[in-house]
Amino acid sequence: MSRIDLHLHTTHSDGSLPPADVLTLAGKSGVTALAITDHDIVGGIPEAMDVGERLGIEVIPGVEISSRYGDGELHILGYFIDWKDAELNRRLATLRNSRHDRNPRIIEKLNELGLAVTYDEVRALAGTESVGRPHIARVLMSKGYVASAKEAFDRYLSEGAAAYVPRDLPAPAEAITWIRAARGVAVLAHPTWVKESAEGLYRLCDKLKGEGLGGIEVHYSTHTAQQTAEYLNIAKRLDLLVTGGSDFHGLTKPDIEVGVGRGGLKVPEQLLGPLKKAAFA
Ligand code: AMP
Ligand code: ZN
Ligand code: FE
Ligand code: FE
Repeated sequence: MSRIDLHLHTTHSDGSLPPADVLTLAGKSGVTALAITDHDIVGGIPEAMDVGERLGIEVIPGVEISSRYGDGELHILGYFIDWKDAELNRRLATLRNSRHDRNPRIIEKLNELGLAVTYDEVRALAGTESVGRPHIARVLMSKGYVASAKEAFDRYLSEGAAAYVPRDLPAPAEAITWIRAARGVAVLAHPTWVKESAEGLYRLCDKLKGEGLGGIEVHYSTHTAQQTAEYLNIAKRLDLLVTGGSDFHGLTKPDIEVGVGRGGLKVPEQLLGPLKKAAFA
């Protein structure tokens, strides 16, 4: 059964497996093409491409950029980006730096709450410049402060939780512009995050399309059948591309597997053609 997976994280950001291991799992799930979409970094792409060539899996260079939307976030995926583009890499470096600005403030709050963690420990565990809250969650787990990443987010790290600190984020239009400047296609990730009515989401997507958005991630590990249908409908009405992926992270999202999400995800191979066409038109 052939399928694709256009949303995967590796150890280059907050995933717990290196690109080679993610590709191996993809092969086992029958994935024929995938995109590495690490947060704010493209470092995992060359390894993924090498291994993909060996395993016969097409690797699409991607990235995921968080942007500010009211009090929340919209994540924008970039596909078929020119990952060596100097300007894109400068932008991504700025975003990674804003993480180093925020994370120590989260650690400070955790310390005030009586949890003994240091940013050095988090950075050592992360082993990458794109350090995220899931890395902090893993350190909290390793020290026995929480039993799971979910508990770490619920109690401390989620928006509104005890140690939450917002991060300086670009506007969605900026993230979209950066991706397009690197000749990529910009796609709205996991629309389930958008706390709007169906009509509100439609209007948002319409606005983002005006700012250069090319598609919507209709298929996603946690989307219900009803959500998938709703997002598909919006994509059709706005003539936006349809994409999909698992958002695999390994350890911090232990219920999500490469290619199949929670078991029921199937992103059709047929979505790849139109995406490619849009990227190379
Ligand atoms: P950051 O990039 O540091 O803002 O961290 C956000 C990332 O944390 C998201 O992209 C998700 O990958 C992850 N995340 C958010 N909520 C949860 C959760 N409840 N459990 C596990 N991971 C989460
Ligand atoms: Zn993540
Ligand atoms: Fe995301
Ligand atoms: Fe993601």
